[in-house]
Amino acid sequence: MAKCGHCNHVGTKLEEISPAHGKFKMMAVCCSACGSILGTTDYLNTGALLKEAEVERSKIKSAITDIRHVVGQIADILKRR
Ligand SMILES: [Zn+2]
Repeated sequence: MAKCGHCNHVGTKLEEISPAHGKFKMMAVCCSACGSILGTTDYLNTGALLKEAEVERSKIKSAITDIRHVVGQIADILKRR
């Protein structure tokens, strides 16, 4: 079990931090007893964002396929005139 290096407490919490002179917020994994920062991670969960982006990309690809199909049908109708 991981212990805090400062107070030996077992237990963590996440806190939003804004490092001085930094452009981005970050999330700090802190000891839930003394508040020491034990590690940091991205402010936004990058993996979850990528997953969301992949779902959106898939929807856009599907919509483009549908649009191509309809445009093809319109072109066929126009050729028959
Ligand atoms: Zn601690």
